Amino acid sequence: MAYVGDTQIHLQDPRTGQTVGELPVTPVADLPALVERARKAGDAWARLPLESRKDGVRKLAREFLARAQAVADVLVAEIGKPPGEAWTSEIVTAQELFDGWLEMIDDELADIPVSLNPINYPGKDLALRLDPVGVIGMIMPWNYPIHLPLRTIVPAVLAGDAVVWKPSEHAARCGALLDEIFRAAFPADLVITVQGGAAQGGALVDAGVDRVVFTGSVPTGRAVARRAAERLVPCSLELGSKDAAIVLHDADLERTANGLVWGAFHNAGQDCASVERVYVDKRIHDALLAKILEATAGMAKDLGPLIDQRALDKVHGHVTAAVAAGAVVRTGGAPTGIGWHYPATVLTGVTDDMAVMRDETFGPILPIAAFDTEDEAVARADASPYGLTVSVWSRDLKRAQALASRVRVGVQYVNNCCFTGPMAGAAWSGRKESGYGATGSRFGLDALVVPRTVCVDRSRQ
Ligand code: NAD
Repeated sequence: MAYVGDTQIHLQDPRTGQTVGELPVTPVADLPALVERARKAGDAWARLPLESRKDGVRKLAREFLARAQAVADVLVAEIGKPPGEAWTSEIVTAQELFDGWLEMIDDELADIPVSLNPINYPGKDLALRLDPVGVIGMIMPWNYPIHLPLRTIVPAVLAGDAVVWKPSEHAARCGALLDEIFRAAFPADLVITVQGGAAQGGALVDAGVDRVVFTGSVPTGRAVARRAAERLVPCSLELGSKDAAIVLHDADLERTANGLVWGAFHNAGQDCASVERVYVDKRIHDALLAKILEATAGMAKDLGPLIDQRALDKVHGHVTAAVAAGAVVRTGGAPTGIGWHYPATVLTGVTDDMAVMRDETFGPILPIAAFDTEDEAVARADASPYGLTVSVWSRDLKRAQALASRVRVGVQYVNNCCFTGPMAGAAWSGRKESGYGATGSRFGLDALVVPRTVCVDRSRQ
């Protein structure tokens, strides 16, 4: 965690709350010149054949792998991730991203022929070519400070774009390490890192970039979209959510309980797609609860801290308000008093009007509500301003898929949750206030390219 001063980011360790150092911020006045430098580097880069740009990403993968232990160490020190999570959720996923995009990119960037009627258009060829956008301005959150920037930077450089990006101030050291890796892998200035907070993020939108890719909270997303609109710069927004899990009466209880506990508590619940509310068929409510409590006890010691005091206050505020309104704490429910740690907390007796069932909590809280009918469960899951993911848990895969499809989200899971965000081949996209645009897949690439219609007339040479 950190706070941003005029010239320095003051770094704190979320595991202890202690101040641990400083890192210089990028002066806001420097940003337009940095974007121009990136544009120059990007112009030269885009003229290289795709195979050379792929070599650049292969080099990136090697440089990343060579520093994998350093990446894990800084994730532990700066965000407080347990080491196992640092490896599985950031390092393994990054390797998959490199491989996935290297495999897909030739097909995704290939010219798209447009078929013409030869009687109306004799001797004419038409195709759509995908040009790079130019300079992508990217603003990132802190909760997955390695794979989130990579999931845009990797396809962007393959497409021929340059990137100027800002890590979160809470993940400035992760950003600095990625910066070192980019410098080792790419030509100078192709990917430029800007350090700082809201001032630098806002200034980046104004600095002459051609496209903004933002991942973060809904309020900041709104501010970024407004600012980008003033400049007519297109932007894509990957924002927060309040993702629901629906558990049907025929679910495998053991598997479901383990899945929900992981879905709610990994990264201490600080995942945009965390399971933040459970709707369970009332016939199996008590049996599922018993399994969930068992699974929670098993993983409680592996929980990392929240990112800062503000996060701790919000999470505990959701719990205390729910309890005041009649919810029951089944385990956890109060800060541990060590750094910004909050224990894995399970609530029952919750109602949909409580903040803990309505607003993004972004902490290790699993509120469980019972439902009478499946239609009711779908309606309650869908009655949210957010729409990132939903999961349905059942042995009847067809029925579960049909129910999940009725919830307005960008990603649906049956008998699993949360894990597809970093995949190159899968689209990660929100509906409603969870944002617009996508990362991953050809739909994520859309943000990073512009189509050019190319016409050649061979008829009278
Ligand atoms: P945040 O909105 O506080 O900050 C995100 C980034 O925006 C940071 O780099 C911050 O410095 C910058 N920023 C802050 N104010 C700004 C402004 N006025 N103009 C420009 N930039 C500004 O979010 P956070 O706390 O870092 O991240 C947590 C949020 O991100 C949660 O809501 C989570 O759900 C969401 N998130 C979404 C996804 C997704 O893929 N949908 C992934 C990860 C996190």
